[in-house]
Amino acid sequence: MNQRIHLSSQNIENNWGKYVEEATASNTSFDNNRNVTAFEKSLESYLGENSKVAAVSSGTAGIHLGLILLGVQKGDTVLCQSFTFSASANPIIYIGAKPIFIDSEKDTWNICPAHLEDAIKDCIHKNKKPKAIIAVHLFGMPYNIKAIDDISKKYEIPILEDSAEALGSSYKEKKCGTFGDISVLSFNTNKIITISGGGALVSKKRGVVIKARFLATQAKDEAIHYQHSQIGYNYKMSNILAGVGRGQMKVLAEHIGLRRKMNYFYSDLFSDIQGIKLLAEPNNDYFSNHWLTCATFEEHKLGYDREKLRLAMEAENIECRPLWKPMHMQPIFENAPFYGSGVSERLFETGLCLPSGSNLTDEDRSRIAAVIKKMN
Ligand SMILES: *Cc1c(COP(=O)(O)O)cnc(C)c1O
Repeated sequence: MNQRIHLSSQNIENNWGKYVEEATASNTSFDNNRNVTAFEKSLESYLGENSKVAAVSSGTAGIHLGLILLGVQKGDTVLCQSFTFSASANPIIYIGAKPIFIDSEKDTWNICPAHLEDAIKDCIHKNKKPKAIIAVHLFGMPYNIKAIDDISKKYEIPILEDSAEALGSSYKEKKCGTFGDISVLSFNTNKIITISGGGALVSKKRGVVIKARFLATQAKDEAIHYQHSQIGYNYKMSNILAGVGRGQMKVLAEHIGLRRKMNYFYSDLFSDIQGIKLLAEPNNDYFSNHWLTCATFEEHKLGYDREKLRLAMEAENIECRPLWKPMHMQPIFENAPFYGSGVSERLFETGLCLPSGSNLTDEDRSRIAAVIKKMN
């Protein structure tokens, strides 16, 4: 059997030795936060725009802290893109708040401005103004920044930007991760750079980031005895993993190049085939890191559906996966309100994520191309 081709396998360059060595040296009295601080600084200078960064234990932890810092409380309402991974929405429930899910627009596959505004108007009409909007750059594609920002400003509802999949993407030359009132990154195993598990919370407000660090380290008040005047969390990033992160920052640009190269590979491969449509940047304002290359497959044009293609790939030991199942279709959120018109449902029915890792080889690409050629 051929070796398995994964959708997005862990790709950690071995360039972190000295940082990790330092962090694990037992006989020194060094600052056990040194890699964390250096990794945060490196992310800050990468993102620009006066960003301040708090490194945390996961993207999910970052979203949880982000919602708390935006003032979301038990019983509040939070608007959330439905077409996403559950980690975007679960922290709403951790807090005891209520999600309202919003459908996608066709261009970016991300949160639809029209349905978002409808939901906000309805909520305000019911005297229950939402406390936050969670918008996601799914698969690395920036959401419609201009339209969503305008709505956020018009109704004075802050944005929590879930940029877990979009480190390195940008909109009008500004980096994703700098658009939200609070933004979140992830360094989980399958992300564009990874430290095997970790995340970051980003804000332009220094006070917010300092508060995030405080909450992430058990909310210890200033006292030599342990004193707590609010509930804290153990959400801090490990100093050892932050050392890996310092190494990963050096290969980020290369990883983006390789992911984008995979995207070009697919757009060439599909160029003559009617019925396959890649998720593509709507115009030059958008730049996607193409974390995952995704496409929809129209059965009436192709003569096969996405499931048939998935199984054909699987038979060759190539992993493809349906697109994220929208949150409003998930058993855990079946009672949550939803504003939409079938866009994300249709994407879920017809779409596939294709192998997109930064470590795929020419041989891997030939194997993928062979399956596509056989099907068409
Ligand atoms: C990966 C991911 C998260 C969560 O990040 P973790 O670091 O795995 O907790 C959140 N949102 C989206 C869209 C993701 O892809």
